[in-house]
Amino acid sequence: MTEPAEEEGAQTFEELGLSDEVLTALGEMGWETPTPVQRDSYPLAIAGHDIIVQSRTGTGKTGAFGIPLVDKLISKEGNEQALILAPTRELALQSASEIEKLGAHRDVDTVAVYGGASMERQVRALEKGARVISGTPGRVLDHLNRGTIKASRLRILVLDEADEMLSMGFAKELNAIIEKLPKERQTLLFSATVDRAIKRVAEKHMRDPEFLGLSGDHVGALGIEHFVYMVSGVGRVANLITVLETEDPESALIFCNTKAETEEVSSALQRAGFNAEWLNGDRPQREREEVLGRVRREEVRFLVATDVAARGIDVSHLTHVINFSLPENVEQYVHRTGRTGRAGRTGTAISLVGPTELGILYYLRLQYRIFPVERTLPSEGEQRTRHEADRIAMIEAAYPNPPSERELALVRRFMTHANAERMLAGLLGAFFGEETEDVDKVAAAKRRRGKQHPDDHASRLAPTDDAPETATIYINVGRRDELKASELGRLLRDRTGLKRKEIGRIRVRDKHSLVDVPEDRAQDVIDSMAGAVLHDRELELELAEGG
Ligand code: AMP
Repeated sequence: MTEPAEEEGAQTFEELGLSDEVLTALGEMGWETPTPVQRDSYPLAIAGHDIIVQSRTGTGKTGAFGIPLVDKLISKEGNEQALILAPTRELALQSASEIEKLGAHRDVDTVAVYGGASMERQVRALEKGARVISGTPGRVLDHLNRGTIKASRLRILVLDEADEMLSMGFAKELNAIIEKLPKERQTLLFSATVDRAIKRVAEKHMRDPEFLGLSGDHVGALGIEHFVYMVSGVGRVANLITVLETEDPESALIFCNTKAETEEVSSALQRAGFNAEWLNGDRPQREREEVLGRVRREEVRFLVATDVAARGIDVSHLTHVINFSLPENVEQYVHRTGRTGRAGRTGTAISLVGPTELGILYYLRLQYRIFPVERTLPSEGEQRTRHEADRIAMIEAAYPNPPSERELALVRRFMTHANAERMLAGLLGAFFGEETEDVDKVAAAKRRRGKQHPDDHASRLAPTDDAPETATIYINVGRRDELKASELGRLLRDRTGLKRKEIGRIRVRDKHSLVDVPEDRAQDVIDSMAGAVLHDRELELELAEGG
């Protein structure tokens, strides 16, 4: 095992002795100093060693093989000199583009080949010639078998995220590919975890590899902060909601250990007013694609998924990775948390840790030297304070206009009355109605949605006199149709004669909306709205099940 370079090693790209062309490219990319993994890999790689580098996404590992490749290992002449294998199309493309940038002043050209894309176009690109090929194992093997990639020329093999390739079932393809390559070659293997399966690959296919292990400074993916919340394990979903309220992440990929949990957690989040979606292996392809499309368009704030379902999808814009539970092993933790903070962005990893998961946390510290900062759930008192603030914000929003002189005179008199507190408590009770917990949910939901979708009000417009029974009506138009709660409210008032105060909460969801109306008016409302059109859509109303 080679100890990572300490202080005496190169601290700058200049000190590594890079060529001017590559230094220029690095300057253009805004990379100022090498990351530890780049600093330590470079001398070994250019000396021609095979290396195993334990490193994960976010540590600058693409540069760790990209820099030596473009700087020294690839010669000016000859196509198809280096082959980079990666587990996903996303990663294959990312490497190809980063290497093109690094090699911009050395005319290093790359071709990316991956499944699910036109074979013909790839063949044409390969025919034109490129010095570096980056691809996924299945498609690369296809090309090798067809002779559209010529194995005999390849002198350098990079296995990127080797552990992921193995865990995604690419072992057979990997072996078949490597068997076809010349024995005289240099192999650089990058892997977040180095377990027995990786060691077997190394023994079989590498020549006296040098091993660069994780030491303190290799560990932290660039800019990922790790936090844990200790929970009892009971009421975990409620704990998660509290964590989300407290941390208020912009967006997150939330990992669950089981498929059933993904649905459970996502519906609980939706019920609490969060914009959430779920993904697991049971979701039909079309729904899956629909969800992924919305994730890509950044329309989903929280994506709740299993490890398998989250594999290979591009979620690099999500700011947080949240572990609803810690995964079964530390390697998976490393993979999960590597999903945030990609592409130079900073990320945050937050885990809920129950008593049975403490062992994993221990191994995380021991094996990977990741020391998450412990945070505590807010106390009941703190949560109450938050709920009070939500309620006040709700009242404030309900009465945007300044009071008239006459109203003001009454208010002043009221406030100096000996029993002002008692009377105000009564008024607030009348405003919020009786289901106090529900009010807190609505108020919190309003705050949450207010943040993401300013026009998606969960608005309770005014107090109801004596809290009559309400019914919830489902309407087939939602945020996607650019519907706003205010215009729906207006249309309801115009067409049905409902008074402002008779209309309860209006919740504009993604594809539909829900409106609370007095129960005895519900059928009448549905009938009066027949044929109404909003945003080019004919409205369909029906009683929502269960209210
Ligand atoms: P990677 O681990 O290769 O996925 O890299 C993570 C991110 O860090 C990528 O967006 C890189 O462009 C960026 N990066 C890599 N090396 C450096 C560096 N030396 N200085 C600044 N950014 C870097």
